[in-house]
Amino acid sequence: MKQTEQMKEIQAKMKPGVITLDGFLGADDRNLIDILEDDDAEVKRLSLTHEKIAARMLELREAGKNGLGDMIGVPPHYEVSVDIARGKLPCPFGHRGLIRKSMIRVRNIINDREIIYTDMNIHMIKEHGFYQGKGSPFRLEISDLVEILDIGPPE
Ligand SMILES: [Zn+2]
Repeated sequence: MKQTEQMKEIQAKMKPGVITLDGFLGADDRNLIDILEDDDAEVKRLSLTHEKIAARMLELREAGKNGLGDMIGVPPHYEVSVDIARGKLPCPFGHRGLIRKSMIRVRNIINDREIIYTDMNIHMIKEHGFYQGKGSPFRLEISDLVEILDIGPPE
C-alpha cells in the first residue's frame, strides 16, 4: 500500500527527539505503512489479533502492578515488575490524551525468557497494530510476545 501524507506526518513524529529521545523507529528505514503491514501479516499468520496480544500484555501488567515496582510472582509461571513513572507521553498517531510512562518486565519461568514493554507499546499495539521499527529500543517482536506471554491461537 502507498504511504499517505497523514502516515508521513505520523512517521515524522516517531523520529528521535520528537516524543521520546530514541524515537520509535530505530534503524528501520521502511515506510510506516510497510512496517504496519508486515507485522499485521505476521499476526494474521498466527491466527491472532493485535487486540488479543495487547490484552495479554495488559493482563500481566495489571497482575504485576501490585508489586509497586518490585518483581512479584504471577501465576502460573511468571515474574512481573511494573514501574510507573511520573511523566506522560503523547501517542505519535495523534490521539487525544496521554500515555503514562512505564516499564513492564515479564519473565517466563518455564522457558526462562524475559520481555520488557511499556504502556505506550500496549496502546500502540492495541490501537494501531504498531510494534515499533526494527532496532528501536522498545521494538517488540511478535514471536517473542507470543512465546514469552504464552499467547495462543484461538481454540
Ligand atoms: Zn494512539
